[in-house]
Amino acid sequence: MAELKSNSAPSAERKLHWADEAEEEATSKSAPPKLSWGEVAASSVDALSICETEFNGFLDEPEALNINAVTTGDTPYTSASTFEDLKLTPALLKGLYTDLKFQHPSKIQAISLPMILTPPYKNLVAQAHNGSGKTTCFVLGMLSRVDPNLKAPQAICICPTRELAIQNLEVLRKMGKHTGITSECAVPMDSTKYMSFAKRPPVTAQIVIGTPGTIKKGISAKKLSIGSMKILVFDEADHMLAEDGFKDDSLRIMKDIQRISDHCQVLLFSATFNQIVKNFVARVINDHNQLFVKKEELSLESVKQYKVDCPDELSKVMVIKDRILELGENLGQTIIFVRTRHSASTLHKSLVELGYEVTTIQGALKQEDRDKIVKEFKDGLTQVLISTDLLARGFDQQQVNLVINYELPVKHENHSEPDYEVYLHRIGRAGRFGRKGAVFNLLMGGRDEMLMEKIERHFNSQTAQVAAWNNAEDFKGALKAAGLL
Ligand code: ADP
Ligand code: MG
Repeated sequence: MAELKSNSAPSAERKLHWADEAEEEATSKSAPPKLSWGEVAASSVDALSICETEFNGFLDEPEALNINAVTTGDTPYTSASTFEDLKLTPALLKGLYTDLKFQHPSKIQAISLPMILTPPYKNLVAQAHNGSGKTTCFVLGMLSRVDPNLKAPQAICICPTRELAIQNLEVLRKMGKHTGITSECAVPMDSTKYMSFAKRPPVTAQIVIGTPGTIKKGISAKKLSIGSMKILVFDEADHMLAEDGFKDDSLRIMKDIQRISDHCQVLLFSATFNQIVKNFVARVINDHNQLFVKKEELSLESVKQYKVDCPDELSKVMVIKDRILELGENLGQTIIFVRTRHSASTLHKSLVELGYEVTTIQGALKQEDRDKIVKEFKDGLTQVLISTDLLARGFDQQQVNLVINYELPVKHENHSEPDYEVYLHRIGRAGRFGRKGAVFNLLMGGRDEMLMEKIERHFNSQTAQVAAWNNAEDFKGALKAAGLL
């Protein structure tokens, strides 16, 4: 059994919304800003391909991705087979090769970076699979486009959660280590250190990564200057522009920047863009290039999906205890997704009462506790993390090879309808950059079975059945088939 730390998960139930993110709840729902961006003029569709390159043996070729490009205007783009082809500065190449230990660009990097870095720096809407390396695309984009001699904010990246903002900032700092470019995180402060924007000094960092509420407050308080803004990035962009996400704040920030900065390039990145968001993006993002993947091709080949029929709630707990926790460090790290804060606390309590120590993250925890729990998990001090959808998107920990859906994700407004995007993001926490992984969906009763069927139909992929929830051999077989044992 791995050495695991325990933390108590508060049981207070509050109004929940996607990602269980409370403090960044979208603000003024009432009066959405009036926008005047033009219609998109999409032209020729041509599928880009890159030279086949060799990858580390253990990786399962995230390159086998089918991404279609739609470019506007007549700027020709080639795709890069090496980082040198991208004409990156020596300082950035050093960061990529020596600090990140990357050898060559992934497919989305090879295709999107020439689009981002070639004048006239068109806007870009880019979709690519979970774990395929999208962060590098926009981080290199920001680091390349910022003028190191201009000591003012020139790039903003907006993320849905503080965890993702912090993670992206860490990647940026590693990649940009030799560039001298400065960066700052704009996320809600620890309760103990809170200081209003009016009392804070102005932001001098050249790149700011944060959550929408904090960034918006910084701009309104005139502490985050947007006059020199060159590039604005939305990570998990479909959620950032969704009605039940951060649409109002995102549009407000975009509009404020575009009113002041002549041409600020806008980049939208996500693994998912449903039709509603796509239509909206087409209306609000001016003259943009786009990269898209069909939804049927979004599931990761390297991650095996299973379903397990469980007669009752106790059997779900027992599956986790006997089939997962008992294997301990023979497995990599595991994330168990639950739907509500309440489920997070009850599952946490059940496992602790059975003598297992697990950690739990959810939106009701204090900021500093959230940061601590994520850090312990990233440092490998904890093996099993229970999470609400707070970590469903973007969270990158290469050692996570097992995801358990203790409860399937459903739409907030209709619990009989699966949240397909969240499902895809949850399972994408395993199998990072082509690594092997497995997902167990624990189903209890007809409603869960119906949800699972809908998910299978939506992605046109069959989920394998684990024959018996209480049979150790069945689980071992499944883990072996997924390449984990
Ligand atoms: P996503 O597309 O889901 O945002 P990330 O940007 O988080 O994916 O990248 C997933 C993982 O792949 C990260 O751990 C990252 O370090 C790794 N990665 C990204 N690009 C490369 C590359 N070119 N070579 C090797 N590893 C890479
Ligand atoms: Mg990402």
